[in-house]
Amino acid sequence: MPQLDIPELYQCVHCGLCLNACPTYRALHIESESPRGRIHLVRAAAEGRIELNDRFAAHLDLCLMCRACETACPSGVQYGRIAEAARAAMGPRGSALARAAAGFAFTRLLPYPSRLRRAARLLRFYQRSGAERLLRRLLPKRLGEMSALLPAVPDRFFAPAEMSPALGKKRARVGMLGGCVMSVVFSDVDEATLRVLRLNGCEVVAPKSQVCCGALNTHNGETAAACAMARRNIDAFLGLDLDAIVVNAAGCGAAMKEYGHLLADDPVYAAKAERFAARVKDAGEFLFELGLVPPTGRIDMAVTYQDPCHLAHGQKVRLQPRALAQSIPGLRFTEMSFSDRCCGSAGIYNLTQPEMSQEILQEKMAAIAATGAEAVIAPNPGCMLQLRYGAARYGPPVQVFHLMDLLARAYGAAEEPPSR
Ligand code: SF4
Ligand code: SF4
Repeated sequence: MPQLDIPELYQCVHCGLCLNACPTYRALHIESESPRGRIHLVRAAAEGRIELNDRFAAHLDLCLMCRACETACPSGVQYGRIAEAARAAMGPRGSALARAAAGFAFTRLLPYPSRLRRAARLLRFYQRSGAERLLRRLLPKRLGEMSALLPAVPDRFFAPAEMSPALGKKRARVGMLGGCVMSVVFSDVDEATLRVLRLNGCEVVAPKSQVCCGALNTHNGETAAACAMARRNIDAFLGLDLDAIVVNAAGCGAAMKEYGHLLADDPVYAAKAERFAARVKDAGEFLFELGLVPPTGRIDMAVTYQDPCHLAHGQKVRLQPRALAQSIPGLRFTEMSFSDRCCGSAGIYNLTQPEMSQEILQEKMAAIAATGAEAVIAPNPGCMLQLRYGAARYGPPVQVFHLMDLLARAYGAAEEPPSR
């Protein structure tokens, strides 16, 4: 019998106030596709009243893990912990091929930066050799669409010096997580983050021994691999006498702030994990608290802001990135309606649940179109990829930026409007 000893299950009072915040409930209006319904199901399984079979798994797998229900819940139910525990108890699922691919990605690829970079080089070759264009025509529709979601791999990966000095007067000493996806697919964003931190008086330490944060593993029930990755990051950063450990990907930051919970039963790492988690800051959150050196370069552009779920709901960081963006001269800022609703990216959800993901994405693109913005700020790699895909497929043809990218541009050659 799988372990489903989850104290959070019993905090839910079944009030239903979370239902309308849930993207899958709003789309389907079915109780079992709502947070309350899923909590009921997990509780029934924990009490041995139902089995952890494929039908049970389908309800849990359709959840985006966006945690919008946590923001809506007046009782403070941490739904994410319930769903992660349930997914871990269910174990690997799907076809033999899907299980093998997931097992390979979660335990043999993500924990090893050198393998990840080799895989990214292969992907780059596939994209640039013409094989991708050819295959997209030959593949079944679903696989062709999945291929279109793959990010374009740039020429260079993020490979900073282990220590980069502050530019100007030193105000803080921080660690920086490069991130698995960020450092290979959005190396320009990592470079921008490093530059913005240094221009704000930060000495930046980027230990070579750091690894992927383990967020995807945690969300998909691969807890043992997630714990191993958390321990490696704790060993990499904790003894470095840092004021903060800065993360520019919302999903990674949320996962790292949860290391204390993840390793609570580890007698060697539990206390270290709590100390580590207390130091983790989203890049926008950190710079806001430090006091941003005002950028003087001008960027004339109408922008709106997409709250990444794991920043708004997971870390409760909403105001800080908006304040930093609004400090850039020339930016005209308009809020979109329901900016904290998920864009449908949700880790690998856009690959595993394409129909629901596309429905949610179309709603998001319509909200962006209504603002008239030329660009969207979305400080998370998954959101950036999803929104770029949405702009190309559904419109409007907006540019998508990470906040650190825009700040770096405003500090640098800001006379030229950003283009991508
Ligand atoms: S999760 Fe919270 S909001 Fe949703 S039904 Fe339970 S107590 Fe109510
Ligand atoms: S995490 Fe998101 S999709 Fe899942 S139940 Fe909560 S609101 Fe719904």
